[in-house]
Amino acid sequence: MSHQTFWNPVLETMPREQLRQLQFKKFKRILNWAYSHSKFHKALYSNAGLTPDDIRSFDDIKKIPKVEKSMMRDIQNKDPFPYGDALCVPLEEVSVFRQTSGTTGQPVYQPDTWQDWEWWSECWSFVLWAQGYRPKDRVFIPFGYNIFVAFWAGHYAAEKLGCEVVPGGVLDTQSRILKIQELNATAMMATPTYILRMADIAKNKMGIDPSTLSINKITCAGEPGAGIPSTKQRMEDAWGAKVFDHSGATEIGAWSYECSSQPCGMHVNEAMFLVEIEDLNTGEIIEEPGRKGKMIITALDRMAQPCVRFDSKDVIEWDSEPCRCGRTFRLIRGGVIGRADDITKVKGVLLSPAAIEEVVRSINGLGDEFETIVDKQGDVDRIKLKVELKPEVTRLSVEDRLKDQLRLKTNLGYQIEYYDYGSLPRYEVKAKRFKDLRKKAISEKECRL
Ligand SMILES: [Zn+2]
Repeated sequence: MSHQTFWNPVLETMPREQLRQLQFKKFKRILNWAYSHSKFHKALYSNAGLTPDDIRSFDDIKKIPKVEKSMMRDIQNKDPFPYGDALCVPLEEVSVFRQTSGTTGQPVYQPDTWQDWEWWSECWSFVLWAQGYRPKDRVFIPFGYNIFVAFWAGHYAAEKLGCEVVPGGVLDTQSRILKIQELNATAMMATPTYILRMADIAKNKMGIDPSTLSINKITCAGEPGAGIPSTKQRMEDAWGAKVFDHSGATEIGAWSYECSSQPCGMHVNEAMFLVEIEDLNTGEIIEEPGRKGKMIITALDRMAQPCVRFDSKDVIEWDSEPCRCGRTFRLIRGGVIGRADDITKVKGVLLSPAAIEEVVRSINGLGDEFETIVDKQGDVDRIKLKVELKPEVTRLSVEDRLKDQLRLKTNLGYQIEYYDYGSLPRYEVKAKRFKDLRKKAISEKECRL
């Protein structure tokens, strides 16, 4: 099996029309399940005047009301404790607790049964196999195993594939690097922020060049970095390894993956998820490639707390070309481009934080860390960008290029502040590099009302 290209050749190369029929069949099944086993879903659909029988064709799917994260937070006050009435199985069938790791708002609790947990590792098996993980790999997993799902399912999928897994849980960064060196680990999984941080510590604190270690592939998730070409390049150069993008979420599952053809985008696992892209302004479902919108997603086989038309707020767009690898699963171009909440208007221009990251990381003289702060000076929007100069690099040598590239890629002017290398905050897991202080002022005002 280790020579075969696909984890599941039947599903991954299924003709599109057949795949659509499979998605429809599975959608109906999960809709029926949610409607008949959870008070929350029954009320949601009944209030919209719908029963599962009203969904007769693929086009009818968009009639089903979306689920927002805030709705999931609200039901946690209801029985059964602590999940609330979206739970579709008796409590004793729940075998694992997780919670969402977002930086804003109260976390959402996520129950999974044993069957769901096997489903999680099956989703991740598609990811890892497509990225070249094989039984001969020794996979190092440098994350704190805790209440967040993060790379837990990646761990189990690697075992399922037959890889050897090294759980690098409570070790500190230096011990992790030494363990990778000691064991000749060949692969690892972490956030882009942590991959760069590990490389920095290895190089500057330990005198170890990470590209001389035996890691040859890295799977990134949790942040968009591996889909941003200049960030991906930095990681690949630092580690001398292929870096692959993946996106998943606690409430959804592991729904997408970059394959080893590296087509500048990710495949959606369309046998296990239904992804719809909704226009941010009109709410219309976008079928054609090249138009950005937010992702509405259904996990087609997740049972304990179903995910049916969940409003993920991830901004994505369909790619126009099929992938060279032969998978018929569609590609989303450039991976997850941003969050609908983070894409904001500055001086009337739409700004995506990922565009700033792409520019900063493309300039060699700048360090990996940076911070963007949007606020108002009087009535006028202002963007402050803090960057670090690498040692031995002068401001003059990067200034013009940084300004020009920012103007070119984002159509905006910036107030740029230069810092010595090592002086901006460092993050261990996910970074908060974009702050919109105007939003804070608005939300505080709303709270008072
Ligand atoms: Zn592919």
